[in-house]
Amino acid sequence: MLSMNLYACLSDNKYFCRRSIGRRKMSPSELLKPTLYAAEGTAAVPDHPALHGGKCTCGHVFFPMQTYGCEVCGRNGDALQPLRLSGRGKLIATATVHIHAGKPPKPEVKPHEVPFTIGSIALEDGPTVRTLLVGVAGKALKPGTAMVATLVPVGTGAASILDLRFTPAS
Ligand SMILES: [Zn+2]
Repeated sequence: MLSMNLYACLSDNKYFCRRSIGRRKMSPSELLKPTLYAAEGTAAVPDHPALHGGKCTCGHVFFPMQTYGCEVCGRNGDALQPLRLSGRGKLIATATVHIHAGKPPKPEVKPHEVPFTIGSIALEDGPTVRTLLVGVAGKALKPGTAMVATLVPVGTGAASILDLRFTPAS
């Protein structure tokens, strides 16, 4: 059964942007939101970035990691442990954005250029995420399309800043 732990757009969630970026100085090849994903993959899917999810002692798997409470059984704290989720899943739905304010999450990051496409993806580990898609222009995307996580450069300056996207697996 799919988790409905929907996560509003990985790139635009201000709360997690603040938590993950803080006020640290960017260094070369830095992840834009390292609390949400890793450059390394999981053992099952080593070639694509992993997502930082969690698992409850009841078995429920969720994303992103949090210890406030399991949405299935209500346990909190140590009952919720970090779990790396593989960056692989199936497309549920897409929406293409044609008009956007274009405001970047921070000055060092490029604003989204329209049109861009957002997809809901059911990760093979359970949770559903909503994220920006790349490599989909001109493609007929159908529900069930195999998708994988990838990192794309989003910085405006010399520093390499990478952010997570999903793209068709083939
Ligand atoms: Zn639980």
